[in-house]
Amino acid sequence: MPVSTEHPHSVSKLPMSAKVYINGKFFDPQDATISVFDHGLLYGDGIFEGLRIYNGKVFRLEQHIRRLYDSAKAIHLKIPLSPAEMTDACVESVKQSGYTDGYIRLVVTRGAGTLGLGPERTENPQTIIIVDKIKLYPQEFYDNGLEIITASTIRNHPGALSPQIKSLNYLNNIMAKIEASKAGCLEALMLNHKGEVAECTADNIFIVRNGNLLTPPTDAGILEGVTREVVLELAKDGGIPAFEKTLTRHDVYVADECFMTGTAAEVIGVVKVDDREIGDGKPGPITRKLKSLFQQLTMG
Ligand code: PMP
Repeated sequence: MPVSTEHPHSVSKLPMSAKVYINGKFFDPQDATISVFDHGLLYGDGIFEGLRIYNGKVFRLEQHIRRLYDSAKAIHLKIPLSPAEMTDACVESVKQSGYTDGYIRLVVTRGAGTLGLGPERTENPQTIIIVDKIKLYPQEFYDNGLEIITASTIRNHPGALSPQIKSLNYLNNIMAKIEASKAGCLEALMLNHKGEVAECTADNIFIVRNGNLLTPPTDAGILEGVTREVVLELAKDGGIPAFEKTLTRHDVYVADECFMTGTAAEVIGVVKVDDREIGDGKPGPITRKLKSLFQQLTMG
């Protein structure tokens, strides 16, 4: 077989302007590489965060850093930086990128080591910070809402791998995302092992029923979204009664409104679930109010 001498990362889809932080140094995207022996690649052994930059400021940086260190603790991963140093590294990465609006992907892998699962085979966890642009959905979906399906793939059983850990192993969510895409949808609702509503593949879910805002509790087996927390606060401040409540698919089908929240997606209406129209088939008034309050917050 002919051997290519081309740089393995000369891929046209790489962002051109961004700089990538790896262990304290900045690289151009095509030079930002780590070992193929990294257990983050070999076993999904590592953790990550996704953050947003609005108007030059990192949104809810403290909450994301806390969740990163919580995830690390849960998987026995010692991050080489202190939370304060990690915070500074994120801020510096944003500065280096020159972006005033964008997305940060913060990754900590177990590091390179010999083959075999054991973390003791590795050394030097790798800290990676990518600053890039993101646009998850076309604008029309923010205006008109999304259609989703319920995936047959259930969310990870908390007794197997807690969905509270934002680990590098996202296959559970990716399997559900593939189901969504095969059904012609951009997102999928995931149930837990008890058949209750958990969350979407990369977003938390909310419904509105009789003026009450409802979202599944942590013990439904969800990632405790930073955006979810912000939306619950905004509801409280805006006089919208909001509760964490165990939800079934039926609750979603008969909801007056439904929307998803996430760092990348922000607040986005859901107007059809498993071919059932939600409410009148348009993003409802409480969804629109919370979306607008959220936007105001990000405009700071
Ligand atoms: N659930 C899952 C599975 C996620 O990956 C995410 C993050 N994309 C969320 C919910 C939303 O969390 P956040 O608001 O912190 O981005």
